[in-house]
Amino acid sequence: MGRDLPVLEPTLVLQGKGHREVLTREMDAGKIPLSLGKKCPVECSFCYELDHSYRETKDPPKTTQDDWEFILNYINAKPTDPMQFWCLGGNEYMEWTDLFLHPKAMEWVEDFLKYTDKSIQFFTVGFVHVPKIHQLAAQYPGRINFELSVITLSRYRQQMMPHAPSVRHLMKVLDGPSVSSANFYAFDEGTMSKDAAEISAVNQQCVLWMGCLTPVRGLKEETAALMRQGRTFLPVEAERIYDLGLPNVMTIHTEAAVTAFLNRKRIVSLFDSLELDKKDHVVTAASVHKILTMYRRNRARFFFVPNAVLGGDSDCTVLLTFEDIQRRLTDQKRLYVPKCVMESGRGTNMDIMGVTVDEFTKKTGVKVRVLHQIDTKFANARLYRNGTLHNYVEDYVRNPLSTQYEALPFSA
Ligand code: SF4
Repeated sequence: MGRDLPVLEPTLVLQGKGHREVLTREMDAGKIPLSLGKKCPVECSFCYELDHSYRETKDPPKTTQDDWEFILNYINAKPTDPMQFWCLGGNEYMEWTDLFLHPKAMEWVEDFLKYTDKSIQFFTVGFVHVPKIHQLAAQYPGRINFELSVITLSRYRQQMMPHAPSVRHLMKVLDGPSVSSANFYAFDEGTMSKDAAEISAVNQQCVLWMGCLTPVRGLKEETAALMRQGRTFLPVEAERIYDLGLPNVMTIHTEAAVTAFLNRKRIVSLFDSLELDKKDHVVTAASVHKILTMYRRNRARFFFVPNAVLGGDSDCTVLLTFEDIQRRLTDQKRLYVPKCVMESGRGTNMDIMGVTVDEFTKKTGVKVRVLHQIDTKFANARLYRNGTLHNYVEDYVRNPLSTQYEALPFSA
């Protein structure tokens, strides 16, 4: 039995505010908020920002020298944490773009390294200046974390990223000390495995960050279909790379179902430590639901919530929203909700849309007990800890138990 759905109002913070408010909020969240002042011209077909209507954003005008000095002074006044890498680009209150398309980006990255004692990380499809980027990496060792979004070197490159740099340019970016990690994905047979071999041939130091892409709302059907095709080739492509024995550190970003399986022991032990009653309703996204149903059936009521706001094939507890939860309510009076759902970058106790836990309770009448142990730090640690290629091949692809797990349906 469904209920009438009240509208959950997000907390809006940018209305009536100038663009410096956006910059300040992003910097308070550890970002270096340069802006192109327009949509990203690379127009990748897989871009997760194609539909970012779920969150309040305000795009600042193209960053000027004056803005840059404001940014640099603001960041410089913050205490330095030796473990922190400041991320080039805001993505919470503004739209994500490839900032190396800003004509001053290289110069300002150099300023940042020269005039602050902080470290920087950036993601780009490769619009950096060679050899300047290699020179900066050599001059400031340990202070640059450069994540190169290769995506694919294969025949799908033109379809996926029509305005990205050429493969020839990418190889020059890879050939030197600057790239910390190169990410690329499976789309078909001989895509990811071939890319791994080519990249490793010019750079044995960078981390190879591989896997498959997950379709979200807003992508074209043909793009989503290609991503799903890639998912079916991931095991064979991964094994091929594993058997090559490349010298690089190799990680794999799998679909959520695989990540949950690889972390099954920890998910189950954390659940046990919560000491819930079998009548308690616990909010879970699809894959965690599957693991708990497989290993702890009837030990609580696992309340499956699909990621309806993000749509596509999203399956992630961290990115669940109160709206998603509300859509699934029937007669529940009280829910146990993981802390990570309300730890988004938008503010205290808010989901990724900016809806607070109090707003949810006020509008639905459902009380929330927060599961503090399941926080974003825990979720991220699980994502990376078991995410090596070795672990994926040995504990999933070559593990007979995974076939049994895959055969289990997702609960609806
Ligand atoms: S370069 Fe990045 S931000 Fe720009 S369209 Fe591609 S994925 Fe999106």
